[in-house]
Amino acid sequence: MDPKTPAIGVLALQGAFDVHARRLAALGAITTLVRKPGQLDTLDALVIPGGESTTFLKHLERAGFYDTLNAFVHIKPVFGTCAGCILLAKEVSNPHQPSFGVLDIAVERNAYGRQNDSAILTSETTLAGGPLEMVFIRAPRITRTGPNVRSLATRDGSPTLIRQGRLLAATFHPELTEDTRVHQLFLDLVREEMK
Ligand code: GLN
Repeated sequence: MDPKTPAIGVLALQGAFDVHARRLAALGAITTLVRKPGQLDTLDALVIPGGESTTFLKHLERAGFYDTLNAFVHIKPVFGTCAGCILLAKEVSNPHQPSFGVLDIAVERNAYGRQNDSAILTSETTLAGGPLEMVFIRAPRITRTGPNVRSLATRDGSPTLIRQGRLLAATFHPELTEDTRVHQLFLDLVREEMK
């Protein structure tokens, strides 16, 4: 096996994990569905998918999972989408809940209200290749970003895709569109970190 092929896990406790794994595999990664903390040992990077962040937290209470994952997200490349973004954030509101606090942002859960709780929108993006289609499902809103956080796309002026060094996060579901640019960006970032 090529030692440079990134081994990327997708946290598979609940939520939209399958499609992430398939997309990353199609782009050239070796993917693992992570259901036990020990599986993190051999991985170069991790995706924390969308779902329900409170349910993730409940599952993570199991035997050392929270602590192992917490250690992982503090040193390795991680891509959090929607609920995953909430778990990585420094501050969570509506209501407040625990998080790994590694991404210097504040997020408000379910911030777009009932009428707009699911939406497909398009944003200008700093990614090459033109506007980005974004699928939002009971999405959080990023209400504050620290100085090391770069915004790559927005919704009504709030960042929806951000990067902070080896961390990438989206408040939308990039796995639900045909556009592979966001996953490609993550893969490039992971390869960069492996050098
Ligand atoms: N509303 C969910 C939460 O607060 C996130 C929704 C999603 O991941 N699509 O965890």
